Amino acid sequence: MSRRTKMINKIKELMYQPKNIRNIGIVAHIDHGKTTLSDNLLAGAGMISTELAGDQRFLDFDEQEQARGITIDAANVSMVHKYKDSEYLINLIDTPGHVDFGGDVTRAMRAVDGAVVVICAVEGIMPQTETVLRQALKENVKPVLFINKVDRLINELKLDSTELQQRFIKIIASANKIIRSMAPKELKDDWLAKVDDGSVAFGSAYHNWAINVPIMQQTGITFKDIYQYCKDENQKELAEKAPITEVLLDMVIEHLPSPEISQKYRVPAIWAGDIESEEGQGMINTSPDSPLAVMVTNISIDKHAGEIATGRVYGGTIEKGTEIYMVGSHGKARTQQVGVYFGPERINTDKVPAGNIVAITGARNAVAGETISEPGRKIKAFEGLEHISEPVVTVA
Ligand code: GDP
Repeated sequence: MSRRTKMINKIKELMYQPKNIRNIGIVAHIDHGKTTLSDNLLAGAGMISTELAGDQRFLDFDEQEQARGITIDAANVSMVHKYKDSEYLINLIDTPGHVDFGGDVTRAMRAVDGAVVVICAVEGIMPQTETVLRQALKENVKPVLFINKVDRLINELKLDSTELQQRFIKIIASANKIIRSMAPKELKDDWLAKVDDGSVAFGSAYHNWAINVPIMQQTGITFKDIYQYCKDENQKELAEKAPITEVLLDMVIEHLPSPEISQKYRVPAIWAGDIESEEGQGMINTSPDSPLAVMVTNISIDKHAGEIATGRVYGGTIEKGTEIYMVGSHGKARTQQVGVYFGPERINTDKVPAGNIVAITGARNAVAGETISEPGRKIKAFEGLEHISEPVVTVA
C-alpha cells in the first residue's frame, strides 16, 4: 500500500474517533506569520516538502490571492499527527489575515473548536489580533498563543533575555485580559494562556522552531540557549531540536478541545433549539447516528466539481447520494459527493460523521450560514454569524 493510500485510510479511520480529532483555525493580524506557520505545519506533517515551507505560500492557491499577496479564501487542510502513542486528525481551517475579510474569520470560527493565535513578538497585540481573538471567543472557540518572530527580537532589536521575557509577559497579559472578559464563565481558568502549562509557545515560523515550557523541560533547552542559537545564526540546529510542527501540533492536541468535549458547551451557544430533543442530544454527544445537522461555513467553486459547500457536521452523518434539507431556504437537494481533506486535497468518501469538516457537492443554492438537515426533519437553524468589527481602542 502506498504512503498516500495509508494516510487516506488513516484519515477515514480517525474521522470516526471524535476524541482524536482537533478542528482548528490559525488567526493573526496581517504579516504576523500565519501563512508561514500554516506551511510549516503542512510540511512537518509530510504534506509538502520542508524546503518549500516558508517560501511557497501553499494555502494561497487562488490566483487573485497570489497577485495581492494576501489570503482571501478560507481553505482547509487535514493532517495526521502522533502524540503520546496515539494518532490524531487535525483539520486546519485557513482564515484570512486581512481586515476586509473579517466575515470569513467569523465563518471559519463556526467550524472549529480551537484557535492558534499567532502574535508577532515585535509588534505585539495589534487591533486585528484583538478582533480575531474576540471572534474566536464569541464562538466559544478556545485559544492558545504562538508568539512568533522571536528571532527578530534577538537579532534585530537586540533585546537581552530580561527584556525578551518582559515583552512576552506583556503580550500574554494583553491576550489574557480579552480571554478573561469573553471566555465561558466556567472555562475561564482553563482557557487563560499560561506559560507554565505550555498553552503559550514562542518561536520563529520562518526558521522552523518553537518552544514552550513542557518542551524546555523535556529537551533541557533554556531561554539562554535560544538566545545563543539566534545570535550564532544557528537556528537550523534549534529547529532540529525543537521542530515547530511537533511543538505546535502537540500543543494543539494537549490544549485544544476535541469535538466531543467542545460540542457540549458550543452547541447551546450556537444553536437555540431544544437541547433535550433528539437532535439536541445528538449534537451534544457528537453522535453519528442522530439526526443530521450541518452548518455550512464556506462556499467555493472547484474547476471540476463545481460548487462546494464546506461545513461542520455537528450531528448525524452526511452521506453521498442522499437527500438533504436546507433549513433556511426550505430547499431540498441531493448530495453528489461528500469529502474530507487530505493535506489540501479533497478526497471523496461515502459518509462523514459528526465532529468533522465536510466538503459537499450537490448542495444546490446553499449559502454560508445555512443549516443542513434531513427532509422531513425541520430542525432549528444554527444562530446567524455575527461579525465583530475592528475595535476602536486597543489593549496593547
Ligand atoms: P501572514 O500575513 O500572517 O500570513 O504573514 P506571513 O506568513 O506572510 O509572514 C509575513 C512576513 O513575515 C513574511 O515576509 C515572512 O517571511 C516573515 N516571517 C514570518 N515568520 C517569521 C519569523 O518567525 N521570523 C522572521 N524573521 N520573519 C518571519
